[in-house]
Amino acid sequence: MTLVPLPAFADNYIWMLQDGSNAIVVDPGDAQPVFDALARDKLQLAAILVTRHHHDHTGGVAALHAATGAPVFGPAREPIPEPFTPLLHGDSAKVLGKRFAVIDVPGHTAGHIAYFLPAGEGQAPLLFCGDTLFSGGCGRLFEGTPAQMLASLAALPGDTRVCCAHEYTLANLRFAHAVEPGNADLTHYTARCESLRAQGQPTLPSQLATERRINPFLRSREATVLRAVREHAELSANAAEADVFAALRQWKNDFR
Ligand code: FE
Repeated sequence: MTLVPLPAFADNYIWMLQDGSNAIVVDPGDAQPVFDALARDKLQLAAILVTRHHHDHTGGVAALHAATGAPVFGPAREPIPEPFTPLLHGDSAKVLGKRFAVIDVPGHTAGHIAYFLPAGEGQAPLLFCGDTLFSGGCGRLFEGTPAQMLASLAALPGDTRVCCAHEYTLANLRFAHAVEPGNADLTHYTARCESLRAQGQPTLPSQLATERRINPFLRSREATVLRAVREHAELSANAAEADVFAALRQWKNDFR
C-alpha cells in the first residue's frame, strides 16, 4: 500500500492509503482532493476512516459516501455524519484485508480515536492520530486528560509512522526549542523539516521514535523538560506527570 498525504484547506492532510486499484482515506474534511486523487489514479474508494467529529475531519464524508458507497468508520462517542460503523477502543476496522486497530486517544475531544495499522508486507506500522499528536507537538487539550492520551501512545512501536492531520511542525518546533534549547536531535530534525517545507514538501509522516526524541509532549518525564516546565510554571518538585504535561500544554498555548 502506498501512503499519500492529500493537502486540504490551509494546513490539513487527508491521508490516503492505496494499492493501485483501491483506496482508504482518513479524515476527509473536504471531498474534492479525494475525488481528484481517485480520478487521477483510477482508484475505487474502499473505506472512509474518521478520528473525530470536527468539520475539518468530516466535511467531505457525506459527499464521498454518497458518490462511492464506501463504508464509513468512526468514533462511537462522537457525532459524525451518518451512517457509520461506530468503533470503540479495542475494536478494529477491517478494510482491504487490513485490520486497523482502534485506540482511545482522549484529550483533544473525549471521544477521539486513532487507527493503528501494524507492520506488514514491507510496510512500517502506521498511526492515524487526527488532532492528538502532531510532529513536535500535540493537540490542545479540551475534553480528556493528558495522562490518558500519553498512556494510549506509550505502547506503540518506535518505527510507527505518525500520520497527523495538520502541518503544524515548524511552529511546534519553535516551541520545542524554547523548552529544550540543548536538544541536538531537535536541532537536526528542525533543519530537515525546514528544508522539506522550503521545497513545498510535507514534514509528515513523522516517526514515533523521532517524536520521542524531539517532541516535548512525549518527553514530559525527561529531566531537561521537567526542569524547563518547573522553571516556567513554578510547579512543585513532586508535581504529577499529568500536571507537568498540563503546564507544558498551557505554556505552549501562551507561546508566541
Ligand atoms: Fe483538525
